[in-house]
Amino acid sequence: MAGGIFGRIVVSILPVMPKFLIGWVARRYVAGKDLQSAVKAMKKLELETACTTVDVLGEEIKSLEEAEFFVEEYKRVIFAINKENLNANISIKPTAFGLLLDREKGLENISKICELAAKTDIFVRLDMEDHRVTQDTIDVVLEMHSRNLTNVGCVLQSRLFRTKEDIQKICEITKGSADFRLCKGIYLEPPEISHTDYQSIVESFCSDIDLALDLDAYVGIASHDLKVINYAKDALKSRNLGPGVMDGRMNSPKNRIGKGEGYEFQFLLGVRGNVRRKLADEGHLTRVYIPYGSQWYEYSMRRLRENPDIAWHVFKAMIFPWNNRR
Ligand code: FAD
Repeated sequence: MAGGIFGRIVVSILPVMPKFLIGWVARRYVAGKDLQSAVKAMKKLELETACTTVDVLGEEIKSLEEAEFFVEEYKRVIFAINKENLNANISIKPTAFGLLLDREKGLENISKICELAAKTDIFVRLDMEDHRVTQDTIDVVLEMHSRNLTNVGCVLQSRLFRTKEDIQKICEITKGSADFRLCKGIYLEPPEISHTDYQSIVESFCSDIDLALDLDAYVGIASHDLKVINYAKDALKSRNLGPGVMDGRMNSPKNRIGKGEGYEFQFLLGVRGNVRRKLADEGHLTRVYIPYGSQWYEYSMRRLRENPDIAWHVFKAMIFPWNNRR
């Protein structure tokens, strides 16, 4: 409740907030303006035994020419991951490749990156944006798999009612190579299509984890919420999955470079590093999402507007840093 009111106040004064102040806060959550800063952050996290996934900031372009920038920049990211021998994936936003402007062109832009990444076994995660592109994003994954590019998977948002059906369909079609990142979903979607209260979202998240594990998918559990993390640990244990245990599920995807035994825990850069390190110390594979790019300001502002609760999290992180160590 306090978070909701606080967040709304922050969002209402965003337009008059000095850019340097937003920049000062964003520094914790964004690696920097360029690829070099992202590589630096990735190397640092590898020393803490974390894998990473890199995101070039930007989304929903206005013209197809803008997509060229993302295609070229992600090629540079793939090159850097190989050159520096990093244990990293890439995360891409389909609308930055033009999916909302021209479905076919967007798909072909994305496929250029998936093909290049496949050559060196780099996994490509399609971030999930708002409900306008849910089906198109899933269709891109299915299309890539039909072209034998199985190094591709999407994010599914547990707040959406449709997610269980999506998990089932994707698992059925991709047969043993389904690979999801499950999360609550950052976009506050309408009540006709989504859960809107905390408890229902968490319950839905937990049952999505069960379903995806039971259907032999690789599951990235992307949450900083201890309720979800603890539930996931129990769910893994009850299926004989966990640190040092071989994934014995029937159809589970095997031998993926840089992947764990059937699952991993994922965190955003700058959020609850202490929780991630504890999971890593227990032997779980952990991955940190590393955004970088010149569009850090637009990205931070959009996130705050879309979900004002983030402002509350950020504020808590500043005044109770021991709860949210980087
Ligand atoms: P919450 O209850 O929101 O958070 C639990 C606690 O974590 C909070 O109390 C706070 O202490 C801390 N915390 C959480 N977020 C922040 C923050 N931003 N700053 C400071 N502290 C914070 N959503 C999508 O819709 N599409 C995606 O593709 C997507 N990809 C993601 C990738 C990763 C690796 C992660 C971790 C999240 C991703 N999300 C994505 C966001 C996700 O949907 C949630 O909005 C976000 O993770 C907050 O939910 P939570 O489960 O962490 O729980």
